[in-house]
Amino acid sequence: MRVKQSDKLADVCYEIRGPVLKRAKQLEDAGHRVLKLNIGNPAPFGFEAPPEIVQDVVLNLSQAHGYSDSKGLLSARRAVVQHYEEQGFRGLDVEDVFLGNGVSELIVMTMQALLNNGDEVLIPAPDYPLWTAAVSLSGGTPVHYLCDEEDAWQPSLQDMEDKITPRTRALVIINPNNPTGAVYSPRTLEKIAELARRHGLLVFSDEIYDRILYDGAVHTSIAALAPDLFCLTFSGLSKSYRVAGFRSGWVVLSGPKLEAESYIEGIEVIANMRLCPNAPAQHAIQAALGGRQSIRELVRPGGRLLEQRDRTVKLLNDIPGVSCVQPQGALYVFPRLDPLAYPIADDMRFCLDLLEEQKLLIVHGTGFNWPRPDHFRFVTLPHAEVLEDAIGRFSAFLETRRT
Ligand code: PLP
Repeated sequence: MRVKQSDKLADVCYEIRGPVLKRAKQLEDAGHRVLKLNIGNPAPFGFEAPPEIVQDVVLNLSQAHGYSDSKGLLSARRAVVQHYEEQGFRGLDVEDVFLGNGVSELIVMTMQALLNNGDEVLIPAPDYPLWTAAVSLSGGTPVHYLCDEEDAWQPSLQDMEDKITPRTRALVIINPNNPTGAVYSPRTLEKIAELARRHGLLVFSDEIYDRILYDGAVHTSIAALAPDLFCLTFSGLSKSYRVAGFRSGWVVLSGPKLEAESYIEGIEVIANMRLCPNAPAQHAIQAALGGRQSIRELVRPGGRLLEQRDRTVKLLNDIPGVSCVQPQGALYVFPRLDPLAYPIADDMRFCLDLLEEQKLLIVHGTGFNWPRPDHFRFVTLPHAEVLEDAIGRFSAFLETRRT
C-alpha cells in the first residue's frame, strides 16, 4: 500500500531543515566533518543558557508534572504582560497572552484559527519561511512583499500596498528580521500601521530577536505604536535567552479585542486542543523576563556576537562579487552574489555542490522566499575562527564558479 501525504502540504516548504541538511547528515554518517551554518541555535556554538533560567526550571520541576492552563501558567503570563507594559503596550490582560512550544507553534496556531481557503497574507521576501509555510498549511495564500537591499533591507511600502487585494487579511513583519538583520524604525512602523489601518488588516509581528541589536539600534514594537490596531506580537526564549531547546514562546494580542472576539475564541479552541505548552519550560519565562539581561554583554562593543557579525560581514565583503549589508540585529547575514560574476541558475543546487566540495552547509536564499537565486544565509553564531574557516571554504568554492 502506498501512503501519500495530504494535498495540504503541496505548497509547504521549510528548507532550513530541507534536502541540503539531509545530504549533510549523510556525509556526516559517512565520516565527514561538516561545518553547519544553517540553523540559528545558540547552544551548539558554545552559548550557555543563563544560569538563573535553568535554575528556575530545575527548582520548579517537581511541581511541573501536570498539565497547565491551555494558555500557560498564570505567573509566566503575568511576567509577559508586565514586560510589554514596560514597552508601552496599553490595556493588556493576562488573558491576552498565549504561551506556546516556541513561537513556531503559535505561528501555526494563529494562522490556522484565522484563515479560510484562499485568504491572503502579506509576508516579507525574504522571510523566515515558517510564516509562508504556516499560511499555506492553513489554506491561505502567502503573498510576498519585497524588502529593499539598497535601503538596508527595509520593507518596500509601495510593494506592500500594491499587493493588497480584497482577499488580504493580515500582514506579517519580522523585526528584527531573519534573514536580513534589518531593524525597523518607528517611522517605517508608523507607515506600515497606516497601511494596515487603511485596509483593515491584522498585524503579525515576529519579534523573537528583539534584544539582539547592534550599534545602538533600538527595537520598537509596532503594537506599542499603534494601539488602535489588532496586533499579534510574538517572542520567546530561543534566541535572546539562548534556550531554544526548551521550546518556550508567547504571543500577545493587543488592540481592539472586542472586534476580534470570534478570532480569539478560535485561537482558544486550538490552544485547548493542544492541551498546554510544555510545563517545565514555562517556568523559565518569569526568570528570563525578570532577570539580568546577559545578552547585552554579547552584543555591546567587545561582545562575542558583535565581533562575529563584524568579522563575517568584512570577510564576505572582501570576496570579489560578494556584497553583504551589515545587519542591525539578529544572528544572520544574507549576502548577495553578483549574478554577472556568479551566474547561478539553481541556488539549492549551488548549496548542495558547496556541501559536497567544501563540507560547508549554508541555506539558499530562495529557501527564504527570496525571488532570485543570488543570496545565501549564514548564521553568525560560530566563534570567529570557525567563521573564518567557513568563509574561506565559501571563497575557495566561489573561485571555481567565477565567470
Ligand atoms: N521566528 C523567527 C524569525 C525565527 O528566526 C525563529 C527561529 O529561528 C522562530 C520564529 C522560531 O522560534 P521558536 O524557537 O520560538 O519556535
